[in-house]
Amino acid sequence: MSEHQLKEAIDTLKQTGVRITPQRHAILEYLIQSMNHPTADDIYKSLEGKFPNMSVATVYNNLRVFKEVGLVKELTYGDSSSRFDFVTTEHYHVICETCGKMVDFHYPGLDEVEQLAAHVTGFKVSHHRMEIYGECSGCSQKKMH
Ligand SMILES: [Zn+2]
Ligand SMILES: [Zn+2]
Repeated sequence: MSEHQLKEAIDTLKQTGVRITPQRHAILEYLIQSMNHPTADDIYKSLEGKFPNMSVATVYNNLRVFKEVGLVKELTYGDSSSRFDFVTTEHYHVICETCGKMVDFHYPGLDEVEQLAAHVTGFKVSHHRMEIYGECSGCSQKKMH
């Protein structure tokens, strides 16, 4: 599955004329395999051993390229710690307020909210964002013991 996603992502880059450097390849691979919505810093830390000349800024620039092509979504939180999500299908996130873990889940039907918002306000709606907050099972178990 992830092999297939990686191949498709690389095809998308080729089609849009983006050069596939070893770093870009590694960053994509990390995004697809980790599925943990990493920050640029997380990616940098896990790849710096492999690419000693790479900086956080390089990682960030590559992520911006992926974002422009539509391969990743940037989830901003009003500080510098943007998290990056490899775009698969539309999904929502549930976020642990204790450890920051972010987990995907699927829930259909909220397109209606977009339609209603467009209808009521006259806006051309582009997208919406919904996040669920709470405590992950790992953190609540730690408290119990
Ligand atoms: Zn947690
Ligand atoms: Zn996600």
